[in-house]
Amino acid sequence: MLYYRYRTLWRTFFQELGMEVKASSPTNREVLEHGTALAIDEACLSLKIYLGHVAELIGECDYILVPRVSNFGWHRNMCTRFEALPDLVRNMFRDADQAFLSYDLDVLEKRDEKSAFLEMGRQLGCPVREVKRAYKLAKKAEQAHNKERVQKQERLSKQEGLKILLAGHSYVLEDPYIGRTVTGYLKESGVIPLRADLVDRDGALKRSRELSPTCKWEVSREILGGIVQYRENVDGIILVSAFPCGPDAMVNELIARRVKGVPILNLVLDSQTGTAGVETRLESFIDIIRLKRGTL
Ligand code: SF4
Repeated sequence: MLYYRYRTLWRTFFQELGMEVKASSPTNREVLEHGTALAIDEACLSLKIYLGHVAELIGECDYILVPRVSNFGWHRNMCTRFEALPDLVRNMFRDADQAFLSYDLDVLEKRDEKSAFLEMGRQLGCPVREVKRAYKLAKKAEQAHNKERVQKQERLSKQEGLKILLAGHSYVLEDPYIGRTVTGYLKESGVIPLRADLVDRDGALKRSRELSPTCKWEVSREILGGIVQYRENVDGIILVSAFPCGPDAMVNELIARRVKGVPILNLVLDSQTGTAGVETRLESFIDIIRLKRGTL
């Protein structure tokens, strides 16, 4: 889930406090099946995968980090699943002898990221000065890492060739078992994949208003901003979602209605999705674009 958004921030913060960081192994069939068995049927695919990762870490660490990220301000909300995560995980693994660590990011309730990290450091028994220093360095590392990734993609977008923009949450697109099979197939087919979530976040939030002035989900707004930024540069857009995603169900419909002049494929991944089914749909989509360009 949020590991793909915050890994540099988290890793640097804890390492600067002298702690060892352990991440679960890349998603595979076993992780997904384990998480699916733990989750209620209505849970989205990403949450099922997440629970499989938590299960893998039980008994392996002194603490497992499960933050609550509610919002970044007015009309800047995260999906409600991110609000529920700490309670959900603590309840699900209540019989395991495992400590969980959390921080509470809720700007509307005056709990911003810095104060949330200071509180987390206090819970860990670290001196305030050290926690402030670790957070400062972690923020710096995060900003540098994000900037580098955004610049790399901007260079990629200027290359010649057939380009397709993938619009989805980072934890869907970067997951080795689901999203990366899509990126991998595009690359093997000679397509340059770009990502709508790999953008300057502040700029994307502003640009998102062009497609929707009322969308209130932070990550969806960043993706909308990424589409506005890249739609003129790409030959097609693939909307990649984890079934059943409430925000994506609404936002993807909005994109399909408001983004004109570029072919759009809606790809919904679920726990039953085999690679063959996905590849057939991707192959047809690429063929349609090549036919349109006169290169098939
Ligand atoms: S935004 Fe969608 S995919 Fe992400 S946690 Fe919420 S329901 Fe799941």
